[in-house]
Amino acid sequence: MLSKRFSLIITGIVQGVGFRPYIYKLAHEEYLAGWVLNSPAGVECIIEGEEKACAAFLARLKAEAPAASCINEIAIKEEPPLGDRSFAILPSKSGPRRTLISPDLALCSDCQSELFDPQNRRYRYPFINCTNCGPRFTIIEGLPYDRPLTTMKHFTMCKDCRAEYEDATNRRFHAQPNACANCGPVLRFTDKAGGNLPGEPLQLAKQALENGKILAVKGLGGYHLACDALNETAVNTLRERKLRWHKPFAIMMPTLKQILLYCELSPEEEQLLCGSCHPIVLLKRRKDAPILAAGLAPDSDRLGVMLPYTPLHHLLCDGWAALVMTSANYSDEPIVYEDTEVLSRLSGIADAFLLHNRPIFRRADDSVTIWAAKTPRMIRRSRGYAPQPLYILGCQKQILAVGSQEKNAFCITRNTEAILSQHIGELDDAATYIQYRKEIEHFCDMFKVQPEIVACDMHPDYLSTRYAQQSGLPLLYVQHHHAHFASVLAEYQLEEPVLGLIFDGSGYGLDGKLWGGEVIYGDCASFKRLAHLTYLPLPGAKAAIHEPWRQAISALYMAEGEDFATAAHWNWPIEGRHMLKALKNKVNTPQTSAMGRLFDVIAAICGLYHQVNYEGQAAIALENHIDDSVKSAYSFDIIEHIGQPWELDWQPVVKAAAQDILANEHIGVIAARFHRSIAQLCLHLALHLGALYEIDKVALSGGCWQNIWLLTKVSEELSAAGFKVYANSAVPLGDGGLAYGQAAVAAKKYGRI
Ligand code: ZN
Ligand code: ZN
Ligand code: FE
Repeated sequence: MLSKRFSLIITGIVQGVGFRPYIYKLAHEEYLAGWVLNSPAGVECIIEGEEKACAAFLARLKAEAPAASCINEIAIKEEPPLGDRSFAILPSKSGPRRTLISPDLALCSDCQSELFDPQNRRYRYPFINCTNCGPRFTIIEGLPYDRPLTTMKHFTMCKDCRAEYEDATNRRFHAQPNACANCGPVLRFTDKAGGNLPGEPLQLAKQALENGKILAVKGLGGYHLACDALNETAVNTLRERKLRWHKPFAIMMPTLKQILLYCELSPEEEQLLCGSCHPIVLLKRRKDAPILAAGLAPDSDRLGVMLPYTPLHHLLCDGWAALVMTSANYSDEPIVYEDTEVLSRLSGIADAFLLHNRPIFRRADDSVTIWAAKTPRMIRRSRGYAPQPLYILGCQKQILAVGSQEKNAFCITRNTEAILSQHIGELDDAATYIQYRKEIEHFCDMFKVQPEIVACDMHPDYLSTRYAQQSGLPLLYVQHHHAHFASVLAEYQLEEPVLGLIFDGSGYGLDGKLWGGEVIYGDCASFKRLAHLTYLPLPGAKAAIHEPWRQAISALYMAEGEDFATAAHWNWPIEGRHMLKALKNKVNTPQTSAMGRLFDVIAAICGLYHQVNYEGQAAIALENHIDDSVKSAYSFDIIEHIGQPWELDWQPVVKAAAQDILANEHIGVIAARFHRSIAQLCLHLALHLGALYEIDKVALSGGCWQNIWLLTKVSEELSAAGFKVYANSAVPLGDGGLAYGQAAVAAKKYGRI
């Protein structure tokens, strides 16, 4: 019988995810000899045996790999057979590590069955896990990924746990967070002062929820604030205490079946909900859904829903229709993740605390996703996804891309890997900025990256830009919308020139104005601005963004003059008159071409929002009002300048919308006409510029594309017209994906491998 011997080097996320026991099992099933070990490269393995068995092993290797693993590459080499008879797991090889850290993994189905099995020794144990599931990224203090370098180092395994941990055939072989009720973390339930309350913590917590109380619950990457999502008073109290007025609250529902009662669910959305990441998925509400508290998501016809992802969640959610599970913080502050902070910072919000003694090493918010235009889209990329690397066309130099000011995430690269951090948040919050700097250092240290180039935004006031300037390293300034554009090109590995429709809230432009309604042509190396929305002065600068009525006055003044803009009909706040003065004298009225602002203008004209509490609020409301039976549209003027970017003049759109309001037209009609006018503009530009530049590829990026109606419509219409349409999927369309784009620009400029 002919024997063969192969050596394999498997790279990717293959450590800490049950890979060696998996190989061991596979080799046994195929009667193969050899060995497997963890090495700095990933996993190395030798198989020796019958040719047919080797082939079967290789065929099964990737197909049946553990759910939590992610194989990048398998390098196979044939070697002369040595006559090995047995298969063994050998000790790890040490050396400079290039392996990856697994994101946190949702509870697996095996552990879930054990959790609810009265015969199992971990029956109802809130910290059950195995190599296929459990905490990773949020408990890892350093590499190699071994128990002493995790926050589980405080717990000594009991005899039974140790036996599982050391048994190569066991599902818990080298499961670093392995624990049980006898040796692992435990729950406690405390009052606001931190004093333990007598009784079984989980029962007490459930009781409190039943009584309409608000709980702080310690999770994987931070604390949640939880309350009964059916209890209107509890939800409103939570809003008041959290100072968060309109932004939707995420909810957790115990099962898919429960979700189906409330939301429409496609097979793809189901997959998103149930995968090992367990993100929040923004789902369309069913018209016939049972009642939930009205205050959950007042502006939106979608609900942010997730399934339980830790054993504690499973135990807590059991028996409820839905629980509010929102990040524990005051508005705009980072999620709380340290025990010392939780009582002092949250005693004004939470009535009681469900805590445990497994420390969280690093913060990670829940990820938020949506299924749109036939693709999953990341709204916030964090727990479950970070720090899984994204592919990038590699660069000789290691890069740090510092990201944006808002919705920050940063990115480091090594070769073809771009490691995008978890969602960091708003850098103008002092605590967030401290965490930002700490996390950058930590990432560089863990992933052994020594940045040689720092890529940053051009905005002089971004704290990320200032951080980059203080680094002392060579800087590459990347224009905001070029970075958005490049983030799409990098995701789809597009090297050739492409047309870009980059629409967002605002970003610093090459002329010092605030861009954000940009039509560009180019690649990762460079771009040309082909067209942009007509500039709109923003009276009061930043204040105008929080108060869309200021923008509406400005737009109406430009389009129709002073009398029209200040007519009593509009009911503007009293300061409206000052606005006009500022506009005439051009005092504190920076100019913007941002598409996001145009949404604000139309929403304010419709009387929807004079004031907004979170970014995109007016736009979301406008999108929700769309009456899809309306097929008419307004239209933009396109002013073709020679030798200069074209101007996309929105004034006819604003005029027509204002006339519709004066004619008492329904908001649903105006919202539909407005959205359709943008879709038509996109198609027109693509056809025109596509022909001129001989391109059939269009990239969509920027926060405005989180508008599902618009993304879907434009994707469909451009595809139908023969264009290949690309929009972000693995990184956020908004500023959360900016760092990845900055890295892609730097990688291109500093030479491929
Ligand atoms: Zn498990
Ligand atoms: Zn134990
Ligand atoms: Fe942006």
